[in-house]
Amino acid sequence: MSQINTQIIDGKKMALQIENDLATEIATFKTKPGMAVILVGDNPASIIYVNHKKKAAEKIGINAQIFHLSPVMTQDALISFIKELNNNPEIHGIIVQLPLPKHISEDAVLDTIHPDKDIDGLHPINMGNLFIGRPNLVPCTPLACQLLLKSVCPDLVGKNAVVIGRSRLVGKPMTQLLLSEQCTVTQAHSKTVHLAEVCQNADIIISATGSAGLIQKSFVKEGAILIDVGIIRNADKKIVGDVVFEDMIGLAGAVTPVPGGVGPMTVAMLLANVVKAYKKQL
Ligand code: NAD
Repeated sequence: MSQINTQIIDGKKMALQIENDLATEIATFKTKPGMAVILVGDNPASIIYVNHKKKAAEKIGINAQIFHLSPVMTQDALISFIKELNNNPEIHGIIVQLPLPKHISEDAVLDTIHPDKDIDGLHPINMGNLFIGRPNLVPCTPLACQLLLKSVCPDLVGKNAVVIGRSRLVGKPMTQLLLSEQCTVTQAHSKTVHLAEVCQNADIIISATGSAGLIQKSFVKEGAILIDVGIIRNADKKIVGDVVFEDMIGLAGAVTPVPGGVGPMTVAMLLANVVKAYKKQL
């Protein structure tokens, strides 16, 4: 087998460039875009994520506020709180950090965010528009994957793509974005039979399962592009992805590392969505 010069896609570098461009654009605005981040409860990972989003937003000139609410808050009280933010002209984008405590319905909460302020792109109206080919605010991780992919393969028309995972957050919107690029898309998931065979003909594999080391050599056609969405803390407390990264060097055409691939680009896409929402609300 010939050795391929595998390209490592640098998500950190791309994210920095996008954030610099957004900062330049925001500096021209008369007022600051405002972002509200709602955290219910004290999930340690969620606390880290929301602080990270706030820091990244403030760095580029977005006014970010974290609303840290009690874990015993009722669903009705949370919905009323979101409705107030919907009516607040200084808030242009709202995110509710998931997961929510078990007594609160995620659907009921996400449905309450005004679609124009839905910077995570999870409201049924934004999802529906994406599915009928009229994307507006699109979920950040699939957007990140699309840009990472296009950085190494600008023309995706006719490519065979396999998306592994079918979540509302990643897998399903990812498939729609790839269809909009005119790829032939196969959506695989936990009940897919013979996943390796399904992947072997793919020019592009986007894996979003959270199953460490799922994607091995036997899954990958020579020269395929791999976008690894998975974030898993392994037994050695190291952050790893779905893809066995080392095995792809010399086999894949390009691969995203974990960390340093999809993660930083997801944050950049969230900030881009805030700016998009702000401009729409002017
Ligand atoms: P999820 O648990 O909602 O969905 C996982 C999907 O993977 C499911 O549809 C399931 O059918 C599929 N799946 C699970 N195991 C499988 C297997 N062995 N074979 C085939 N399919 C399998 O998770 P999610 O929210 O979509 O996130 C997926 C992963 O991506 C997680 O590791 C998460 O931490 C990570 N993630 C990363 C970012 C980022 O910014 N990099 C953003 C969102 C999610």
